[in-house]
Amino acid sequence: MFKKTLLASLLLASFMSAPTALAASAGAIPGPVAVKTAKYAVETYRNDVVDLLGKLVSFNTVADPKVPSDQNPVHIAFKNVLKEEAARLGLDYTDYGWTVVIGLGQASERLGIVTHGDVQPVDPSKWKKSPFVLDRTSEPGKLIARGAEDDKGPIATALYAMKSIRDNGVPLSKRIELYVYMGEESDWGPLTEFLKTHVPPQMSITLDAEYPVVTAEKGGGTVAVTIPASSAQTPAAGVPFIQSFKGGFFGTQIPEDAQAVIANATPELEKLIRARGAQQDGMAYSFAWNEANLTVTGKGLSAHSSKPQEGVNAVSMLADALAVQAWTDTTAGAVVNYLNDMVGTGIHAEKFGNIAYRDSFMGPLTFAPTVIRQLDDGIEVAINVRRPQGKSSDQLTAEINAALAQWQGRRVPLSNIKIGVREPWILQNPPQLPTLLSTFSYFTGMKNPKAVAIGGGTNSRLFPNAVSFGPAMPGKKYTGHSEHEFITTKQLLLNLQMYTAALVELAK
Ligand SMILES: [Zn+2]
Repeated sequence: MFKKTLLASLLLASFMSAPTALAASAGAIPGPVAVKTAKYAVETYRNDVVDLLGKLVSFNTVADPKVPSDQNPVHIAFKNVLKEEAARLGLDYTDYGWTVVIGLGQASERLGIVTHGDVQPVDPSKWKKSPFVLDRTSEPGKLIARGAEDDKGPIATALYAMKSIRDNGVPLSKRIELYVYMGEESDWGPLTEFLKTHVPPQMSITLDAEYPVVTAEKGGGTVAVTIPASSAQTPAAGVPFIQSFKGGFFGTQIPEDAQAVIANATPELEKLIRARGAQQDGMAYSFAWNEANLTVTGKGLSAHSSKPQEGVNAVSMLADALAVQAWTDTTAGAVVNYLNDMVGTGIHAEKFGNIAYRDSFMGPLTFAPTVIRQLDDGIEVAINVRRPQGKSSDQLTAEINAALAQWQGRRVPLSNIKIGVREPWILQNPPQLPTLLSTFSYFTGMKNPKAVAIGGGTNSRLFPNAVSFGPAMPGKKYTGHSEHEFITTKQLLLNLQMYTAALVELAK
């Protein structure tokens, strides 16, 4: 009975699987043309794509708050390189100011590729070589530069994917358009305006996040408050107090650096802080004395603020290391108390009233202090928020206000409270999803990939039917926005193949 059933089911399985397998290979995605073109791309252009990346990263395209992108000489010079490259590769080029479109083909139906040419600020002192010279040698296999992963590597690969499709004369039913926006990291306003009059492609892939395919993004936001100098309490004479506290670099980077000065400090206090800091994973502390002032400097690990779990937040950790005694609410002391009372060392707003929640697909709300800034009238504490679906913006804002009110009742009044919480974004059943998932699976060997949600926000949400497809592999640290940004040569070339094949499949 057992044998007979087993045999029968084996027979049935082989009978069933043969035609299924045949059918799959006949209509498999990626098909033979896509695979052949992808192979051609990597064999022909493996060096050119790296050289082009080297050219693109040589421009420090960080936003200048005083000069709009369309008048910024560095942005204009960067776009001129894109123009020359487009001409050299046989692609058409249109400069719309903040946005450049590089196209292939004439069909009225269009497929978009969404990227950006601007970068985040960088601290060159943290780099082995200039962040604006592609470093191919310091760490073999890695291409290190600001923008290597975010988002100039994707631009270089997209251009050579288009070139390879052109070289091979692949028949296209859709025109392919590469969008390079110059304000993604600073200001989405000009792109939003542009898309009110410019009709975008009917479908797009965004190359600015991770694989396999991103169909949802958390809503980003900030909770910024100022601890006003006017409400500072005066410490009792001779008692240790926090004289200053600062840390962080920009709003979408998990801070790597933080520093506090303790006045009237004692060796005993230093010992306690050292011991508490030593309990923290990934933090390194240094201590310096200037008479009775002790400066405590903490170093963590920078990361993209949408992935606080990939970094070590020096601001949160330093505040925690100082929690070896109660601190008077001097301005800086109140900053430390605020961080310890309301944030702690967690990343999910565990201590901030009732705001914490999670969604089964999009994951938990994340909550990370990013910049502590000395102002004329106090110290500003900015916390970066990334929140999934499941609460309305009104509800979340009300809960944040309630938590702040509660803290102020207990400690000191805050000023200049700025709460901005954006809506999460989710796209149901985008038409390109199956093609992208099977292309990813084919080139990576990963079985049954599924759509994912991310904490970051991309320009996908401004384009119809746009989903992110790479450039980072799932489970790998995303290095964009960090002080150690790179893309591996292997990943760049894998992306070149996947983008080429995906474009062939979606535009054929
Ligand atoms: Zn980006």
